[in-house]
Amino acid sequence: GPAPETADQANAWLDSKNRLFGHFIDGTWTAPSKTFASTNPANGDKLADITDGTPADVDLAVAAARSAFPLWSGLSGYERGKFLYSIARMIQKHSRLFAVLETMDNGKPIRESRDADIPLVARHFYHHAGWATHLQREFPDHVPYGVCGQIIPWNFPLLMLAWKIAPALAAGNTVVLKPAEFTSLTALLFAEICERVGLPKGVVNIVTGEGDTGAALVNHSDVDKIAFTGSTEVGKIIRAATAGTGKGLSLELGGKSPYIVFEDADLDSAVEGLVEAIWFNQGQVCCAGSRLLVQESIEERFIAKVKKRMANLRVGDPLDKSVDIGALVAPVQVERIRDLMKRGVAEGAVVYEPDGQVPANGCFLKPALVTNVSPANTLVAEEIFGPILVAMSFRTPEEAVALANNTRYGLAATVWSENINLALDIAPKLKAGVVWINGTNQFDAAVGFGGYKESGFGREGGREGMSAYLRPKWEKDLTPAPAP
Ligand code: NAD
Repeated sequence: GPAPETADQANAWLDSKNRLFGHFIDGTWTAPSKTFASTNPANGDKLADITDGTPADVDLAVAAARSAFPLWSGLSGYERGKFLYSIARMIQKHSRLFAVLETMDNGKPIRESRDADIPLVARHFYHHAGWATHLQREFPDHVPYGVCGQIIPWNFPLLMLAWKIAPALAAGNTVVLKPAEFTSLTALLFAEICERVGLPKGVVNIVTGEGDTGAALVNHSDVDKIAFTGSTEVGKIIRAATAGTGKGLSLELGGKSPYIVFEDADLDSAVEGLVEAIWFNQGQVCCAGSRLLVQESIEERFIAKVKKRMANLRVGDPLDKSVDIGALVAPVQVERIRDLMKRGVAEGAVVYEPDGQVPANGCFLKPALVTNVSPANTLVAEEIFGPILVAMSFRTPEEAVALANNTRYGLAATVWSENINLALDIAPKLKAGVVWINGTNQFDAAVGFGGYKESGFGREGGREGMSAYLRPKWEKDLTPAPAP
């Protein structure tokens, strides 16, 4: 394949920081204290030591965000928009560094971080620069929450940061963000960008750490709103923890999204879409099309095409530009997926994996197709969050809808059919926050994204995403007008 993307620039940046990071609080870097290692999941190399945030660190960060709030919320939307615009420009300027660093930290193919993650990050900031500018006109009688605590997962580290920080800042909030422990590096590079564009101190604070650090943020009494993206399990803990408080809350949680292929679909396109749906980012995607539902009349033909396509997927060094499937984020994820597979097989599932080897060192898994399963099988019921596709068949559209909705999740769904009447009839019956027709994994900063059922509540992106960072507050001068 083509030469690997060079890691030199990212290594030089890490070296310039002595591969040791404190938190970014009130516009300055705190001294590193108790740390944990961040490693490259493709080869096990240690990349840096990251500080494990304590409740005292969270306290400092919240205090900084609180004192920055009057200044930031008092700026005109236009002034805030200029900062968001500068951040977007800086991300574009340093996009190669961001992409390589993301790939080294997370294991995702460079083609994806370079062509999807980082461009979408820049786009998200550009989009929200526009919202800031138009805020007063579009959301009269609304005020920002105040201090927002934001907790994000490791699957799209910088993109999830952008989804959280861009709308919060546009609305006039200040933030304390905690990246996932496996992937803190691009958030720390982002903090440098905030410094360089002259963002007022305390508007963005990054506190690194594990679950306990997140919990300290959730439970902090001076945080006005929590925005969380991560597992349904932790989402439930956070919802319970905030229930007795006045905090605002939005949750973006897990998924087990159906990918429905009707007999009249363009099968080759549907196969390509499926590759995108389940093997993008090693399947570590909350809206991954992880449940293939295929009409019985074409089942055999379609499955044969999928298997043939799977044999052409290249698994390997994520910095290699021709690699389709990189490394999973951490050994614990590989173990978790292997355990789920064992359970599913014990319950009767049949697993197909293409021939060929994957690198022995590093968190690599082959793409897998699981058949011979009923809805009760562990592999159908549970979110796997890995490169594992489960397939089932249906006879009628009604049966497809019933199977698709037979899940505790409801994040996304995909429908393939050349019959647009059929597709448009099915779409509203699917209990999912987004339904794609003859396409998949399409994201737009202007469109609200979020779930039904245990996939969470609240939307990110677009007008809905903006309103999640604003409180309605009617502010009118009710003094009677002087008599004419
Ligand atoms: P996770 O819930 O374990 O961790 C997410 C974040 O929460 C991390 O930063 C973690 O440190 C923190 N955390 C852990 N325990 C906490 C606690 N008790 N209190 C506060 N914070 C805590 O999830 P993960 O394994 O990092 O991510 C995978 C999950 O995220 C999947 O289920 C996936 O579907 C979901 N996800 C959802 C979306 C979406 O938009 N709906 C997007 C990406 C990922």
